[in-house]
Amino acid sequence: MIILGVESSCDETAVSLVRNGHEVLANAISSQIKDHANYGGVIPELAAREHLNNVRPTLNEALEKAALKLDDIDGIAVTAQPGLLPALLVGAGFANGLALSLGKKVCGINHLAAHIYGGLIERQDILSNPNAFPLCALLISGGNTQLFIIKKTGDCELVGSTIDDAAGEAFDKAAKILGLPYPGGPIIDRLAKSGDKNKYKFPRSFLPKTRSYSEEHKLNFSFSGVKTSLLNLVKKNWKDGMVPDGDLPDLLASYQDAIVDVLSTKLKMAAESYGARTLLLCGGVACNSAIRERVQKMAIQTAKELVLTPPKYCTDNAAMIAGLGYHYLKDPNFTGDFVEASGRAPIIEKLPVFN
Ligand code: ATP
Ligand code: MG
Ligand code: FE
Repeated sequence: MIILGVESSCDETAVSLVRNGHEVLANAISSQIKDHANYGGVIPELAAREHLNNVRPTLNEALEKAALKLDDIDGIAVTAQPGLLPALLVGAGFANGLALSLGKKVCGINHLAAHIYGGLIERQDILSNPNAFPLCALLISGGNTQLFIIKKTGDCELVGSTIDDAAGEAFDKAAKILGLPYPGGPIIDRLAKSGDKNKYKFPRSFLPKTRSYSEEHKLNFSFSGVKTSLLNLVKKNWKDGMVPDGDLPDLLASYQDAIVDVLSTKLKMAAESYGARTLLLCGGVACNSAIRERVQKMAIQTAKELVLTPPKYCTDNAAMIAGLGYHYLKDPNFTGDFVEASGRAPIIEKLPVFN
């Protein structure tokens, strides 16, 4: 069964063709990063306009890559929530119209569940192995930082979340403070490689043995403090907030280490609390080399299976949408006649199934 996936929740227009939930035939992405770079963040209306311009060429690119025609498609999956509403409406409108014209079913996908599925596209061995569960997933993206426990396929519970900024925002806002380009994650990752992570001290909010820790926030995150701490340090130490190139690597390595420390420690704590056998890291920040290295070490130490999402499926893509969509669309009883988009999904206590 070939599913066409469409993703437009933020600043990437993506179209993918995936067979049977795991065989990626094409994964086309048109990024708008340069359109938003001047603003230091994504402008929703500009994003919507660009999705409208880009969705058809991106579809054509995917079809060409896979050497398929629209008639070869068995169903359509599209990101329905959460995300920027004007952006989501473009993708949902396109998918609804296409489904109607082709006489195929269309399925609305939760973007966060899809980020988790991004780690499983190439790891169907995990999906089909009951002994791999419970699985603890840490989703670290531009808008979300969440910990989920998946007890078995179809049973996914939110057990921790950020109370303010997302991990990706901690990178993006730091870049803005330092006059580095948007998005901040990739460049901070690169510059931090040659820095000394012990040079500067940054707070690790909600970690055990820190003043901010409480039972209530055992598995929660807060990243606004570390960002403010960076801002204050920069103002105090460098004239006009201009950090010389020579000091940047140490500063960024120290800053990144505080974020990585919190993320990997909380993942370990959640895995211990819920007896997880498998760890999964997903979302754009999961591209970060330091967090990948750190979690890899931790997984070996704690004897857990680890799923590190391949970088191409960490940031927004439509393979994760089409892949997850297959699990709904393969059910002959699935209605699939219309998808409604909504910007703010209700707090997800239960994520949709991967059966
Ligand atoms: P959400 O999925 O929560 O709606 P989003 O889709 O915008 O948000 P993603 O596309 O998953 O988020 O990820 C984008 C984020 O990933 C940005 O904040 C970016 O800075 C961050 N990121 C990308 N590469 C890296 C990296 N190497 N290190 C750290 N962060 C990174
Ligand atoms: Mg993005
Ligand atoms: Fe995303």
